[in-house]
Amino acid sequence: MPLFLPHFNIQKFNTLAVPAVADYFVSVQNDEELREALAFAKTEKLPLLILGGGSNIVLRADFPGLVIHVKTRGLDIVAENDEHVWLKVEAGENWHQLVEYTLDNGYYGLENLSLIPGSVGAAPIQNIGAYGVELKDVFAELAALNIQSGLMVTFTKESCQFGYRESIFKQALKDQYVITSVTLKLNKTPAVSLQYPALRTALANIPPREISPGQVSAAVIAIRQSKLPDPQTIPNVGSFFKNPVIPKGQFEVLRMQFPQLVSYPVDNLYIKLAAGWLIDQAGWRGRGIDGVRVHQDQALVLTNPDKREGKVILQLADRIIASVQEMFGVTLEMEPRVYP
Ligand SMILES: Cc1cc2nc3c(=O)[nH]c(=O)nc-3n(C[C@H](O)[C@H](O)[C@H](O)COP(=O)(O)OP(=O)(O)OC[C@H]3O[C@@H](n4cnc5c(N)ncnc54)[C@H](O)[C@@H]3O)c2cc1C
Repeated sequence: MPLFLPHFNIQKFNTLAVPAVADYFVSVQNDEELREALAFAKTEKLPLLILGGGSNIVLRADFPGLVIHVKTRGLDIVAENDEHVWLKVEAGENWHQLVEYTLDNGYYGLENLSLIPGSVGAAPIQNIGAYGVELKDVFAELAALNIQSGLMVTFTKESCQFGYRESIFKQALKDQYVITSVTLKLNKTPAVSLQYPALRTALANIPPREISPGQVSAAVIAIRQSKLPDPQTIPNVGSFFKNPVIPKGQFEVLRMQFPQLVSYPVDNLYIKLAAGWLIDQAGWRGRGIDGVRVHQDQALVLTNPDKREGKVILQLADRIIASVQEMFGVTLEMEPRVYP
């Protein structure tokens, strides 16, 4: 039986360092302990928070329920051919350590996703993405436990309904499953993805055909370290808002008013705007309220240097959303999930 810790401070378990107390906290090391934790929550009628690295949540207040910290470990090659390897990874593994493991062993595809904080089990929740690659590009399937029925279910790429920072686990199946493992399909032959301009610039001194996945990973790490505050020193959850996707017609009208508008094409109908640019233009870069700040070097990141309560962070987020709405008529959507 895993240890259920009552009245547990989860400040160290969320990268915004928000002080909050959970009624109960339990760390689970394997699927059996996970089932026992779920049974405890059912018997005691406790709301659940499934927690990985806590790098994409905002705690609005104390959590009146059970926090299950997924710490399951393990990694297995489940299939292999001349070109690919299928790697099954337990949910509690650390994402970046996995990226390093794959590079050390000659399995490629994760290099652009280097240094994203958090656990493997959380990666499908928002289809993590960075520098031109998303989890869905290397995803094969996942296993998840249905919280109500206790049944283990396999989800294919299609059934996960991945989108930009989206999956079915944030929508129709929100809070209904615990992801227990993720299987990735990785390349045995290096094939680097260099569509992202900053990445190409960083590697401009190497002939494109000679760029290795290890060099891509090193470049991604260097860019991230130069742009993003380390949560260990300045608490944050990375991008606080999603880049808004708007219809082309609306974009054309906005661009007449704001010729510098930063945007990326999505398809024939939609354009993605850079949320950081909108926030910067609305005058928030480097500013804040009550000890919570918009990061000076990257306006998409809210930081919590004074380790204030989640409600203050959410107040700042609301003010930013209102400013951007007023100036551009565009509604920003938060990326992290809010609990309770
Ligand atoms: C500095 C910094 C940079 C970042 N950069 C990026 C980036 O480039 N791209 C990107 O996509 N994200 C980025 N993020 C966000 C974050 O790292 C990812 O979303 C990551 O996948 C969250 O993992 P986690 O284990 O910390 O999840 P948590 O914060 O613990 O949980 C996030 C959500 O997933 C759910 N969840 C967690 N584990 C499971 C599970 N096993 N089963 C079911 N539900 C689960 C939680 O209930 C919660 O709703 C960044 C964060 C920081 C702090």
